[in-house]
Amino acid sequence: MTNQKNKLDELVSFCKSRGFVYPSSEIYGGMSAIYDYGHYGILLKNNIRDAWWREMVQLREDVLGLDSAIFMAPMTWKASGHVDSFDDPQIDCKKCHARIRADHLLEEFGLNVDKEPIDVVNSKINELKRAGQKICCPNCGSEDLTPAKRFSLMVKSNIGAPTDDLSEENVVYLRPETCGGIYLEYKNTMDSLHPSLPFGIAQVGKAFRNEIIARQFVFRTREFEQMEMQYFLHPDDMKQKYEYWRAQRWNWYLSLGMDEKKIRWFKHLKLAHYASEAYDIEYDSQFLGGFKEIEGIHARGNWDLSQHSKFSGVDLSYFDPKTGEKFIPHIMETSVGLGRLFLMFLDFAYTREKIAGKDDERLVLHLDPRLAPVKAAVFPLLRNKPELVTKARELAGRLRPLYQIEFDDHGNIGKRYRRQDEIGTPLTITVDFDSLSGDDVTVRERDTMSQERVSIAKLTDYLREKLGF
Ligand code: ATP
Repeated sequence: MTNQKNKLDELVSFCKSRGFVYPSSEIYGGMSAIYDYGHYGILLKNNIRDAWWREMVQLREDVLGLDSAIFMAPMTWKASGHVDSFDDPQIDCKKCHARIRADHLLEEFGLNVDKEPIDVVNSKINELKRAGQKICCPNCGSEDLTPAKRFSLMVKSNIGAPTDDLSEENVVYLRPETCGGIYLEYKNTMDSLHPSLPFGIAQVGKAFRNEIIARQFVFRTREFEQMEMQYFLHPDDMKQKYEYWRAQRWNWYLSLGMDEKKIRWFKHLKLAHYASEAYDIEYDSQFLGGFKEIEGIHARGNWDLSQHSKFSGVDLSYFDPKTGEKFIPHIMETSVGLGRLFLMFLDFAYTREKIAGKDDERLVLHLDPRLAPVKAAVFPLLRNKPELVTKARELAGRLRPLYQIEFDDHGNIGKRYRRQDEIGTPLTITVDFDSLSGDDVTVRERDTMSQERVSIAKLTDYLREKLGF
């Protein structure tokens, strides 16, 4: 566990010191499981989001976009079952006051209590104790723990309420998942854009959950971003489309450089009563102790639209003009957390490696160029030579409309290379004295560290070829 924890600590400290991710509200002591993304963090996060959107919306005929509000009619979450049963089993440590997920504790004994009622969870714990097993707090090792209780993950607000009393009749919820907005806008999308089945609606946005566990960095936060796509279809098409989307999603990871050995499928055996299939894509998250869920791909039947139809009284059925059939569409969803993808790509790219031919090592992020926060950095060879600085600044300015470019004249060239390697910049461009007369520059590649002279006139073509876009 020590090494895994060390890796997580190393990533957390790297993210803070290099401007990727900061603990939120730090000057007031911080907020547990809430994080802010700094300059390089938001660039990386936006690039992941854009890669997803490009794949899921831009390159397709059959998926439409949406940006629905975080606050929704409270009845939405009654209909979906979240108000009554979106909870995790919580245990408290009486000694150190840590909050513990009972299901995670039981997983260590090979028991799966996913979707089980709380008395089943407690009876499993008691059975283990009777069999002589020690159930301990993962934080301090104490066995003095409370029984498990149901802890709702719903985050409440009083927005628009005439009172600050947060009891159930006044409360408004911050959405716990973004797909609720997609279900509610299914009708407006149909009425305004008239898509025919099968088609999808995709959106990226914030979601909020009052998570019990708060020590997993951006893997598990109380405020996070989801990227979800709900694909509406006739039930006869589910099997084929489900397999199709599983393959699509798997290939997306590989297309961004993910190693096939670092991800795997997890098949859910316990399904909600309305679901016919559910798989997760898991990433080998050594920093959290092994493979963990990154994305869920679920065949959800017609539960969602049926429930909203029932609770709202609005007909959400689809009429197929070709067959004359009227039915509530079934839904296949893909759902992934942007923070989890961020941590996955960062961990995968994060490499300490020996520099060939030198008794030295470097830290480098081998990110796919599409994900790299900065695409190229421009340096003047010396910062005290105004003619070099002016020419380098001019060049950076010319490239900026095309790519995220950084100008850097701090420290010596070696230190600047190190800095760019650490944030994953694929190419660095140095303006030297020969550039003033010959009009060419030295370009260095991050991964191979090889250098070549490139004429400034051909630089944009060169960048396009090397970056791949
Ligand atoms: P877990 O079992 O890890 O709590 P979940 O099964 O509750 O996750 P879903 O409800 O299926 O997750 O949400 C879909 C996706 O949203 C997850 O695969 C994950 O990538 C992301 N996600 C869910 N909860 C969080 C969170 N608290 N912080 C960051 N991302 C999250």
